[in-house]
Amino acid sequence: MKLLVIGSGGREHAIAWKLSKSNKVDEIYCAPGNGGTALEEKCINVNLNSIDEYLSFAKENKIDVTVVGPEAPLVEGIVDTFKKEGLKIFGPDKKGALLEGSKAFAKEFMKKYGVKTAEYETFTDFEKAKEYIRNCAYPVVVKADGLAAGKGVVICEEEADAQKALEDFMVKDVFNGSGKKIVIEEFLNGVEASILSITDGETIIPFISSKDHKQIYDGNKGPNTGGMGVIAPNPYCSDEVIKEFKENILEPTLKGIKNEAMDYIGVIFFGIMITEKGVYLLEYNVRMGDPETQAVLYLMESDLMDIIMGALNKDLANINIKWENKHSCCVVVASEGYPSSYKKGYPIEIEDNLESKVIAAGAKLEEGKLVTNGGRVLCVVAKGDSLDSAREKAYRDVEKVKFQGNYYRKDIGELINN
Ligand code: ATP
Repeated sequence: MKLLVIGSGGREHAIAWKLSKSNKVDEIYCAPGNGGTALEEKCINVNLNSIDEYLSFAKENKIDVTVVGPEAPLVEGIVDTFKKEGLKIFGPDKKGALLEGSKAFAKEFMKKYGVKTAEYETFTDFEKAKEYIRNCAYPVVVKADGLAAGKGVVICEEEADAQKALEDFMVKDVFNGSGKKIVIEEFLNGVEASILSITDGETIIPFISSKDHKQIYDGNKGPNTGGMGVIAPNPYCSDEVIKEFKENILEPTLKGIKNEAMDYIGVIFFGIMITEKGVYLLEYNVRMGDPETQAVLYLMESDLMDIIMGALNKDLANINIKWENKHSCCVVVASEGYPSSYKKGYPIEIEDNLESKVIAAGAKLEEGKLVTNGGRVLCVVAKGDSLDSAREKAYRDVEKVKFQGNYYRKDIGELINN
């Protein structure tokens, strides 16, 4: 089979790497891919950057299946476009993608189908929103409705913070329209977990859970990033938590997908909060998470291509996803200065005795050599029989990856600060 994998991050390198292990897969075109996919067996980077370009390439090169990594093309409607042309593509249609593309739509969907989530109000009128924050309980969470690259959520301790968020989002329009509509939500106190799942619109199968570390510094300090590391499974996802998640979140979501007649064949990411009052859904993403994918796929025993084909053939009910009975730890190595400004173009040296897998993100190949090309440059993923052994291996190997100004957190998977 010939595949097209859309995206350029660590997530897409992990997907392409896992798919390359399948004996059903012959060639994987990564559009545009990165320095890691350029070096992976069966993978060829192709410089394509728009839906029109992906479509012409898929037709001309007789691509059997296209796998979409990031949310933007899904929200733009790439699946509808490909399907109209009779091409196989893995991802939700435009309507399904609204579960991530519009927080107001997602919250309304959750409410309609009884998915357990925080109380909320939606506003398009600045004055009404201002009136609401005068009397609400604090802390409160203000969210831009549309895509904002992970920056559209502000936790407000007091009215002045909420006022500033409303002004930034609704008046200054810092997200180019994404914050014209906002959701104001009850603050939930607890421990977060990420659960990816796959659906063919009839059946939904959760993957193993994982735990992201969003902040830049140890001890969960400093500004949020795209994610500085992940462990899988998530130690806080007990059987009881998973049971509650299935009953109150996963199953009602599938019911909603069916009822709303979404053409949803793809991955749904559930960002959940485990609280004393139970398990709540914070958000849907309509694709795999980054860097969760790197840690989760590293423990997948099954052939990912079989699973994707099972979904595309609407046969997921007969697919059994197997996982290694191990733990994984993914440590992200970033450029000095990230998530603010940083320099690019430094050569990356990787020793050749690593036990872990290196997954590239902001790294490109220049004259056959890897050089830094982004904020989160790469990650090192290790597995072990226990969380401790996975962490030990990951941290041993991360020392063997060097570039000027490399930075990583030292406490990924340490469970002291949640
Ligand atoms: P991303 O896709 O980058 O995770 P996002 O912009 O889609 O982010 P959310 O996931 O909804 O936004 O929120 C981002 C983070 O804000 C969450 O991971 C969580 O830490 C925090 N958060 C969101 N909603 C709440 C809430 N109701 N109570 C407490 N914290 C929250």
